[in-house]
Amino acid sequence: MSTIQTNFEKIKKSIPIRTKLVAVSKTKPMEDIMEVYHCGQRDFGESKAQELLAKYDELPKDINWHMIGHLQSNKVKYIAPFVKLIHSVDSLKLLNAINKEARKNSRVIDCLLQMHIAEEDTKFGLSYEESVEILGSEVYANMKNVRITGLMCMATFTENQDQIRREFTQLTKYFTNLKNSFFMNDDTFCEKSMGMSDDYPLAIEVGSTMVRVGSLIFGSR
Ligand SMILES: *Cc1c(COP(=O)(O)O)cnc(C)c1O
Repeated sequence: MSTIQTNFEKIKKSIPIRTKLVAVSKTKPMEDIMEVYHCGQRDFGESKAQELLAKYDELPKDINWHMIGHLQSNKVKYIAPFVKLIHSVDSLKLLNAINKEARKNSRVIDCLLQMHIAEEDTKFGLSYEESVEILGSEVYANMKNVRITGLMCMATFTENQDQIRREFTQLTKYFTNLKNSFFMNDDTFCEKSMGMSDDYPLAIEVGSTMVRVGSLIFGSR
């Protein structure tokens, strides 16, 4: 086994089966992705639309591609035909663009709302109030080609485990509140995408359903 494959197997073993592992392959070459693919992994995450499209074109078609990075409305068209899940919806404008491109492709695109939970103010994401505004809006009610299946967040980049735990816990509270307010009888709203290389074990403890791990598998970028 190669180093990448050894890394992958080790991480895979440390994650409960109920938690989905998204292997974050941004900036990494196709060969590296194929090594992990050959271990059976099918969910990969990228953070740039054009890079995602280029990799989709080259690589096996049974890969589930996750868009995890900040997405501009005018770039949705590159990924709309095939993307499995967009983790980074942070405005109604973006959601609208996704709905439009999904309709052109006669499909429904699953999306997560990216929530701002980090105590630093540099990260993208919605406040709780903004997410309520989107989910309660008439514009959203009329969108037929997007489906919101949960929430995503990134914790503050810090060594402080208590702070990270507090932030992840905050996401689970937002999740419960939004579930009760807008998705009471809707089991498709079920995902909490949280946890990266440095903090995924903590995220799983707090209730993550989906972790996004890059550098621990593929090496540093
Ligand atoms: C890059 C990235 C990851 C993976 O980060 P690692 O620290 O390499 O595991 C996860 N989520 C998002 C949104 C990212 O941009």
